Amino acid sequence: MTRQNSTAELDKAAHLHPYTNARKLEAVGPRVMAEGDGIFVRDEQGNEYIEGLAGLWSVAVGFNQKRLVDAAAEQMAKLPYYHVFAQKTHGPAARLADKLVELTPEHLTKVFFTNSGSEANDTVIKLIWFLNNALGRPEKKKFIARTGGYHGITVASGSLTGLPWNHASFDLPAIPVRHVTTPHAYFFAEEGESEEAFAQRLADEIEATILEEGPETVAAFIGEPLIGAGGVLVPPAGYWQKVQAVCHKYDVLLIADEVITGFGRTGKMFASDTFGITPDIMVLSKQITSSYQPLAAIMMTDAIYQAIADHSERLGTLGHGFTGTGHPVATAVGLENIAIIEEQDLVGNAAAMGKVLQSELARFADHPLVGEIRGVGLIAAVQLVADKSSRTRFDPEGKVGAFFFERAHDHGLIIRNIKDAIAFCPPLIITEEQVCEMVARFGKTLEDTLAFAEAEGLV
Ligand code: PMP
Repeated sequence: MTRQNSTAELDKAAHLHPYTNARKLEAVGPRVMAEGDGIFVRDEQGNEYIEGLAGLWSVAVGFNQKRLVDAAAEQMAKLPYYHVFAQKTHGPAARLADKLVELTPEHLTKVFFTNSGSEANDTVIKLIWFLNNALGRPEKKKFIARTGGYHGITVASGSLTGLPWNHASFDLPAIPVRHVTTPHAYFFAEEGESEEAFAQRLADEIEATILEEGPETVAAFIGEPLIGAGGVLVPPAGYWQKVQAVCHKYDVLLIADEVITGFGRTGKMFASDTFGITPDIMVLSKQITSSYQPLAAIMMTDAIYQAIADHSERLGTLGHGFTGTGHPVATAVGLENIAIIEEQDLVGNAAAMGKVLQSELARFADHPLVGEIRGVGLIAAVQLVADKSSRTRFDPEGKVGAFFFERAHDHGLIIRNIKDAIAFCPPLIITEEQVCEMVARFGKTLEDTLAFAEAEGLV
């Protein structure tokens, strides 16, 4: 057999892709991405796109930040690998741990590193089980999460995720978890229900769920401050305060999954600041290194740390950790990436550019397909609907969004469609002119999408 040598052919022949329809990939082939520059990426043919989703919600500093390349190269030359098991450490892991403790809310005082957000949430589950065994309450092991939430895809973190395609045919959930209503008023509030009343109803549902299961069996509640991959869903006002109060009342730990929102995305360093959340555990990844290296971090309170530390002493060790935990190259890149975010005030830029993004998108409020425009800081979504006045979704759901996603490439734009919601999450370095250009490309795609929806009889 002769070896095929174009990237697309090699890939098609040998590579099973994540989050991809394998038969469609075989039929049309992959889009081969070749290089990046600021907020732009180019494919092998030289077509240039605005990366409206910053890769996977993650490339804060843009696609050609030389300082991160240099930080990685320097660390590779000095000590390319070392672990942090068995009382060893190295400069980058120790310095990044210190930096994260400084940056995150004051009550979070220790960090555990993993390679990915999924591993981080898996680790959170295990640490909480370990903790409750340590505290002599081995029955307190269940989790509460939300339908529409995203926490990863491993057996345990995928169980917390509340999206049907992450469960179907994977035999998930596989850990004890209850999913409660998605905090998204546009689709889930009742007619005439105020935001406050909707938030109260959701908090009451969480309380009822805890009582139904028995508070002595419920360990933790996990949520993204603002749901990302499930549709960029901004919670109703007061939601987090009410949820937090319920968690407190029943001694249920509160986990803020800030894998997307951490490091400035919502216009503050952490979305816990934006929404007034005081989590017991905060999970960080993605923008921690701008995804130049795989890395995630779990921040925890001193109380959690102390109980885990005591128990590890009783058992002789904390029997958990990955070969790549605290990887020197990843942590060195993380340190430099955070230095850039701070020096260039990318958090402030996200707040300012977020306002521009919202006002540019607002120009489409009267468009026949546009149901809701939502977002905070530099993360936003435009909900496309079949009928605006009745908030009726398309039937079938997702066909219009999938068309939009594909067609956007022809206008030089990469975004994510979540069913029929069009999500934006550009690099935090984006300028005002670039926001306007990104939205102009969105507008052109929207016109094509309206023509498509009409031709298909979907509106
Ligand atoms: N939590 C959240 C909020 C996420 O958005 C993601 C990834 N999109 C994850 C966890 C999982 O991270 P990873 O893909 O690195 O496993």
